[in-house]
Amino acid sequence: MKSYDVAVIGSGPGGYVAAIRCAQLGMKTAIIEKYATLGGTCLNVGCIPSKALLSSSHHYEEATKHFEEHGIEIPGEIKVNLEKMIARKQAVVDQTTGGIDFLMKKNNIDVYEGLGAFKDATHITIEGKDAGEIEAKHTIIATGSKPSNLPFINLDKERVITSTEALKLKEIPKHLIIIGGGVIGLELGQVYRRLGAEVTVIEYMDRILPTMDAGLSKELNKVFKKAKCKMMMSHKVQSVERKGDEVIVKAENKKGEVVEFKGDYCLVSVGRRPYTDGLNAEAAGVKINDRGQVEVNEHLQTTTSNIYAIGDVIKGAMLAHKAEEEGVFVAETLAGQKPHIDYNLIPGVVYTWPEVAAVGKTEEELKEAGTAYKVGQFPFRALGRARASGDIDGFVKILADKSTDEVLGVHMIGARCADLIAEAVTAMEFRASAEDISRYSHAHPTFAEAVKEAALAATDDRPLHI
Ligand code: FAD
Ligand code: NAD
Repeated sequence: MKSYDVAVIGSGPGGYVAAIRCAQLGMKTAIIEKYATLGGTCLNVGCIPSKALLSSSHHYEEATKHFEEHGIEIPGEIKVNLEKMIARKQAVVDQTTGGIDFLMKKNNIDVYEGLGAFKDATHITIEGKDAGEIEAKHTIIATGSKPSNLPFINLDKERVITSTEALKLKEIPKHLIIIGGGVIGLELGQVYRRLGAEVTVIEYMDRILPTMDAGLSKELNKVFKKAKCKMMMSHKVQSVERKGDEVIVKAENKKGEVVEFKGDYCLVSVGRRPYTDGLNAEAAGVKINDRGQVEVNEHLQTTTSNIYAIGDVIKGAMLAHKAEEEGVFVAETLAGQKPHIDYNLIPGVVYTWPEVAAVGKTEEELKEAGTAYKVGQFPFRALGRARASGDIDGFVKILADKSTDEVLGVHMIGARCADLIAEAVTAMEFRASAEDISRYSHAHPTFAEAVKEAALAATDDRPLHI
């Protein structure tokens, strides 16, 4: 039986990054993955394929709706070849997952294909292609998550689908009904709206993206409405029924009336649940809490001291970069270092267009905590760069402490915000004040100037260009 310093179960962004960092730190490392390709949800059916389809559908929308205003004329009809678009997405996924194979080899990490299950706290059995048993001094559980469902919905995966099926549809829906106005619903809703589907978003709460700053929800809602998506807030879904090629969704509105929606596809995107099926965690004494998460302490150590857990399978945001940070954190902890993660500074991004990005506290959170704060907001439409490219929707909002001027939260919606948020994270990591941001140079003309202007507005209400 082979013995390892560390065994990692699951090869998503949490697991494979943990394995690389363990190997870099000189530990003999194995990774076990039940599927034939490495990379987990993120690379196979999450971040990467969804961004590939967002990019392709964005190009199509630009070509059909915006090229003309730039003086570009395309003779003849511009058509979508969905099969080709999905095939390109798959090629991007294959190339990316192949890259992880390369990284495992480069770092001398042994890869086992099969379902990993605890026999006890130091032995793991593998069922599948590389069946057998290994011994590990330490194990990192990185088994991720799966789509959640509502108890009364039968996910047939043909017409009533999750994000996994939505990433490989064979036709463009005529009417896609989306249950859940969160990140997945909005990103994939925008993909199919751009490709020509009618889209209805049914959300239980009174706004989309209910955990983000309300200003962002409001602005993105406007964008979706402008694109003629039906945005049904405060609707509680009661039933989803399939009749042939039709899907009928019934939901109760605020007034207690039952509203019926008829479409040909229904995407259920009401969150994800931690995944520990088949892991046999109890054999190792690892506690799973009543939310299905592996319970961990502040060192990400489970109830069994040589076993750690990271990523979507534990508490916290279900984000690839959060899982990665935790992978590095555990590897460095095992090497005797004293790593640190500031969860307040893990940014959240929605890759719609305009992009939505945020870090730190929302206005709602600051109000609830009774923190006195100032707001500086700057619209993209006042920037030369935004007008030059025609991307004028959105704004940057900076929240700073009223007395110290320290930046407490940055919330933005607009072109390239997914990348712009990195500046806010850097500033907050170094505990910058709004005035600090307003005093360093931002290249002109760039979208980043909106960050500087919002900082000027927050400092003492003196933006230069509005
Ligand atoms: P996962 O990526 O879920 O990986 C877990 C792996 O463990 C899987 O490969 C699974 O097969 C394997 N496994 C499970 N049990 C066992 C076992 N017993 N034995 C062996 N292997 C096992 N996040 C972002 O930050 N940005 C995005 O843009 C983004 N887009 C997304 C889009 C979609 C459509 C979805 C669904 C998710 C998206 N996410 C995004 C979330 C992101 O994918 C997850 O947060 C991330 O993948 C979590 O990483 P992880 O390593 O914890 O788990
Ligand atoms: P989510 O938590 O983002 O959104 C789920 C939405 O469904 C919420 O708005 C919630 O109020 C709503 N909802 C819940 N029950 C409902 C009901 N009965 N009827 C109507 N609405 C209901 O979850 P998601 O969009 O499924 O995404 C899952 C996870 O994947 C998220 O945690 C997210 O962080 C991650 N993800 C991240 C990205 C990204 O970072 N860009 C992209 C996709 C997914």
